[in-house]
Amino acid sequence: MDSMWAHEHGDLVAEAARLLRERGGRMTAQRRAILEAFRSASEHPSAEELFAIASRGDPRLNLSTVYRTLRWLAKENLVREITFSEAGRSSRFDTARPAAHHHFVCTGCGAILEFDAAEVAALRRRMERRLRVQVDRSTLVLYGRCAACSQPAGKRSPG
Ligand SMILES: [Zn+2]
Ligand SMILES: [Zn+2]
Repeated sequence: MDSMWAHEHGDLVAEAARLLRERGGRMTAQRRAILEAFRSASEHPSAEELFAIASRGDPRLNLSTVYRTLRWLAKENLVREITFSEAGRSSRFDTARPAAHHHFVCTGCGAILEFDAAEVAALRRRMERRLRVQVDRSTLVLYGRCAACSQPAGKRSPG
């Protein structure tokens, strides 16, 4: 999948280790394996994909540990969760900085495209004024069909 932004997976382990030190938590071998799995995973991996990679080195790892670690990382803003709208489709995870970009999710093939939008920053400022709140982070997810999926079946290029 083409992307306008390079993802920085390299610092994820170091960032998580720093946070854990601050909070008195421990960087366990399983946590490290999950964090390192982001390096060889696709751009927006599912928990199952990360589990498949991380469990190669540790067969005792289970999916619920992966989910628990991902939820913690999301809470700490080290990863973002991109939720699919349809039932049965799991979330995907993104290690990009929170302010970096927004997503388009194709409900046909599951492709995820990234985009930037100055309008979202403007909307944030407007809502802060209107609702008298402070917005800490925001993400926009647009759902629809990608260029390939919205083409008539006969015109689709093979592959
Ligand atoms: Zn992304
Ligand atoms: Zn598609």
